[in-house]
Amino acid sequence: MQLSALRCKVRPLNPRERDEGMRACVSFDEETKQVVLSAVDKNTLLQLRGATAKGYAFDRRYGQDITSDAIYEDCVAQLVEAVFKGYNATVLAYGQTGSGKTHTMAGGQGIHGVVEEGVTPRVIRHIFALAEALRRKEKPGEKTTISAYGLELYNEDLRDLALAGGRDEAAKGWDGKGGSTSNLKLQERPVGKDGRVVPEVVGVTEREVTGAEELLSFFTLCMENRSTSSTKLNDRSSRSHAIFTITVQRTVVEVLNELGTDLKAKVRTSEFTSKLHLVDLAGSERVKRSGVTGKELKEATHINSGLLALGNVIVALAGDETKEKMATPGEKKKATHVPYRDSKLTRLLQDSLGGNSLTVLISCISPSESDFEETNNTLKYANRAC
Ligand code: ADP
Ligand code: MG
Repeated sequence: MQLSALRCKVRPLNPRERDEGMRACVSFDEETKQVVLSAVDKNTLLQLRGATAKGYAFDRRYGQDITSDAIYEDCVAQLVEAVFKGYNATVLAYGQTGSGKTHTMAGGQGIHGVVEEGVTPRVIRHIFALAEALRRKEKPGEKTTISAYGLELYNEDLRDLALAGGRDEAAKGWDGKGGSTSNLKLQERPVGKDGRVVPEVVGVTEREVTGAEELLSFFTLCMENRSTSSTKLNDRSSRSHAIFTITVQRTVVEVLNELGTDLKAKVRTSEFTSKLHLVDLAGSERVKRSGVTGKELKEATHINSGLLALGNVIVALAGDETKEKMATPGEKKKATHVPYRDSKLTRLLQDSLGGNSLTVLISCISPSESDFEETNNTLKYANRAC
């Protein structure tokens, strides 16, 4: 596992928090490179049962002064370049509802009224810039194909975001009662002899695109379908994971020698497919169990198990990497069990988290002292992963 980057992003205080007189409880210690959660006022402290200042290490922390441009260059651009070399990659935005996950991944108007472009639109333009550059140099027989699909994972049900929410609701699929567009099947196709599998979502609308504008409109459509269904079902978006996956397929022709024995150039053609998953995770807030029943309890249970499984997978993979580093030459290292199967989220991402793939985890946090406990949970989660 290459957890290539562990980042922490703090949003500004919002108007409601300001009106309520909330103060920021998050700061950054330049010396130790830690994100520090500092003690808050007595009343809040009382509620938190004596929490004190805590420091958490991150590769880098993005404060309110950092632009989304700089964030992109710092941790995402290299993943896009790697995808063109055959690697799979995943960008995950983690954090409680309202912490800035969607703002990070999709962009939009921020708290200060400024519209910022998110990670995904930048990825899209970068991918096509690289694809165009390649096209200009392509030899006969070479090809680069780009396609994408959007999924929403809610209560272990997978929904195709390319299809309008209306159709979906009409099919009543979300209650698990029929409906052809909802609950797509996830199947695993074995590849090679080493037990690796490639997850495949049966029947998902995978759109082949030829330009950045076309892919941007497809992404916008997926986001609109997510928010439409969300309004209908009382902000489901905070309780579902949104996964936008871009696939790059390349056919590469290698000229082995200019003139073979039969006076024809010898060539070797190879093909590879790489995936980049852009994931806006469900809100990580702990739901108070007392008094929560039925649908809400089911949602909370699924979110918790998905995020927990993701954390466990990341920890297991990080453990594997440490073992690899520590092993003496010739020593046979015992592979750590990576619990991909514990949730649909980890099954879906399994070939893009371990092995040769690159992962960036952006932990989004609120600076407000009213969110102290959830911010602490988010920082703990991310630190466990590194
Ligand atoms: P989440 O997806 O985690 O629930 P959002 O991305 O919707 O949270 O963010 C909540 C609100 O805060 C939105 O209005 C968003 O525009 C704003 N916001 C989040 N992060 C920032 C930021 N870094 N700068 C300015 N506004 C932000
Ligand atoms: Mg959101």
